[in-house]
Amino acid sequence: MQRALKEESGYRCAIPTCGQTAALQLAHIEPWAKTKEHTFDNLIVLCAICHARFDSGEMPKSSILQYKRNLSLLTHRYSQTEYRLLTFFANHLDEDVLVSSLDKFVFGGLIEDGHLEAHPGGGMRHSQMIFGRQYEFPPYWIYALTDSGVDIVNEMINAESIE
Ligand SMILES: [Zn+2]
Repeated sequence: MQRALKEESGYRCAIPTCGQTAALQLAHIEPWAKTKEHTFDNLIVLCAICHARFDSGEMPKSSILQYKRNLSLLTHRYSQTEYRLLTFFANHLDEDVLVSSLDKFVFGGLIEDGHLEAHPGGGMRHSQMIFGRQYEFPPYWIYALTDSGVDIVNEMINAESIE
């Protein structure tokens, strides 16, 4: 279960604006003293710092619950790479574009749902022989959140419900 929980959060702290990969811990959303059980739905991966902030009451339980619901919804709908892209934007909303050599299909779910736009990057194209066929590739793509993509990232950050 520990592994499943870490997979759910992409081996990162589940707070979208944190995303720390070190010192990960499992936190009980409803306190262990109350539930006396370890269930997938009641556990969330947090880094030591966020875990301490949650335990001290600085981070409200209602927010942690909503982070968990959003995490579950987004990681079922999108690939882990797409989820990571959303958490990237959660920390770089001011930059609002990502230049990447990853091809469009990698973020296909987000593009299909209208949350992300891909534009071919400038510079030199290159071609490559794959399985006996010549393919043309742009050197990189420019990925930008659409308005609905910005909404989702803001909902992630602010622990609001994602539809
Ligand atoms: Zn954290």
